[in-house]
Amino acid sequence: MPDITAPASTAVLIAGGGPSGLAAAAELSLHGIGCILIEPREQVSHRRPRAKTTSIRTMEHLRRWGLAGQLRAAAPLKVAWSQRVIFCRSLSGPRITEFAGAFGLTTERDSRFAEPGQQVPQPVVEQVLRAHLAGRPGVDLRFGHAVEALAQKDDSVTVTVRAPDGTGYLLRARYVLGCDGAGGVVRDQIGARYAGRSDPRPNFNVVFRAPGLDTHLGPAVQYWVVGGPTTGLIGRLDLAGTWWVIMPGVEAGYGAAHASELITGLIGGPAEHEVLATDPWTARMLIADRFSRGRVFLVGESAHVNPPWGGHGFNTSVGDAVNIAWKIAAALRGWAPPELLASYSAERRGVVEQTVASAESNMRSLAGDLTADEAAIQRAKRPEFHSLGLVLGYSYAGSPVIQPSGCPDPAADTTSYVPAAEPGARLPHAWNMDGSSLYDRLGTGFTLVGPARGHLAGVEELAGRARERGIPFTVCEPPEDYPWRDEFLLVRPDQHIAWRAADPADIDLDVVTGRTIASIARTGSRDG
Ligand SMILES: Cc1cc2nc3c(=O)[nH]c(=O)nc-3n(C[C@H](O)[C@H](O)[C@H](O)COP(=O)(O)OP(=O)(O)OC[C@H]3O[C@@H](n4cnc5c(N)ncnc54)[C@H](O)[C@@H]3O)c2cc1C
Repeated sequence: MPDITAPASTAVLIAGGGPSGLAAAAELSLHGIGCILIEPREQVSHRRPRAKTTSIRTMEHLRRWGLAGQLRAAAPLKVAWSQRVIFCRSLSGPRITEFAGAFGLTTERDSRFAEPGQQVPQPVVEQVLRAHLAGRPGVDLRFGHAVEALAQKDDSVTVTVRAPDGTGYLLRARYVLGCDGAGGVVRDQIGARYAGRSDPRPNFNVVFRAPGLDTHLGPAVQYWVVGGPTTGLIGRLDLAGTWWVIMPGVEAGYGAAHASELITGLIGGPAEHEVLATDPWTARMLIADRFSRGRVFLVGESAHVNPPWGGHGFNTSVGDAVNIAWKIAAALRGWAPPELLASYSAERRGVVEQTVASAESNMRSLAGDLTADEAAIQRAKRPEFHSLGLVLGYSYAGSPVIQPSGCPDPAADTTSYVPAAEPGARLPHAWNMDGSSLYDRLGTGFTLVGPARGHLAGVEELAGRARERGIPFTVCEPPEDYPWRDEFLLVRPDQHIAWRAADPADIDLDVVTGRTIASIARTGSRDG
């Protein structure tokens, strides 16, 4: 007789269906792992658009999930429409300066990345991911439900969930991802605490409709209004007359009472408009003291919060989700030990710290702090709009599942990106002769990128070792002009280089799958 009181089981329970929860589900699904995703919001809210910058790196992940084209089609502002940020006295006033090619936006093909960035409101990204996941086998989306509590055992986690009708029920999961944001419950449930601080200045967001509003300044993804009595940022959410505004330094009460007056100040004159929504918020620099406990992992804003300046919060959250999800898939599929998961916080904490520091630095000169001085604006704001070093140049060097390398840590230059085929780095991108991306030829498991035809015996030996361990393994020859084409790069599912070698025989699959961590844990020694 089955035990009818036993909770239903799932491999992975995802608490929260914001960007990080949806991304985690998409990555798990890519690896054939199902999940139950619990999210209180039935619908996404277009009245609180929040993130608009989808970075090059997030677009590359969307491409892996087959969604880059869908997201671009759904985005109201196409990349070709504008790639610049304009600084001005007001939408009707003079232009002070501008940044071209901001946020990784470009219509040119660039050898350094597979996808340009995209400006698109966060709810549109969430809708595209929701629609994708609704059609994926094994993905159970429970909108209107909320996680209330967790209880861990050695082999599973029991999760208490509240259904929309108020009744509670239990689910059992092998792993739980806490993607429930800053206000969720999972962080507390595992005894983790944020450390950090808040910016004392308030911020006030408005969404308004003004179908007749235009500007002589021409298309831009953001207009920064500086040097006058009303300062802030303004931009279009779509080309049908919906606009967003961020006003740093404006208190919630004052903003609500004077929203129209403030909008008129940014426009530089009267324009017919209707305020649709207001959203006060505070910038915070917070990082949890731990990212996991046992079988539960904090992902995205439940683990860290950064000021939105530079547009990194949601993108960093997607990076977390990809990192933990492929590792959980590997552990569940049995080709990596659970100890691989210990590398999650080792790899992501450094990226998160760098992101928080960069966003905080961008916050030093907000719209109200700037004068109409072109040179000063260019100096102060360049890192906010050109941050490829941060977006593409981050590295997992030093992780216990990356080849130990004698190379120094990559330079902390967050603005410029110089491709490097070092262990830990994102695989340098290239275009193939047929116009496809090198990334399109990578497998969903590990891929050996290198001169395979010249080293068939060595490649076959490595493929045999991968087969014995059940590791999904692909071999891929890079294009003729690839600067590292004479070396072998072992690339992980997340497109990061795990190992670089002249001879495939030197590649240690035990290190890159976490078996070495497992044996150290068992014996207490690296040789054990
Ligand atoms: C003004 C502003 C502008 C921004 N601009 C950008 C930008 O341009 N680019 C960028 O990258 N980032 C930006 N961000 C940051 C971005 O919005 C966040 O980083 C992002 O939403 C974090 O995603 P998340 O999924 O981790 O958390 P969230 O988006 O907070 O999602 C958490 C989810 O968990 C759900 N939840 C809560 N409690 C429970 C529970 N008990 N059980 C189950 N689910 C629960 C919530 O309903 C929510 O859907 C901006 C933020 C602000 C405030």
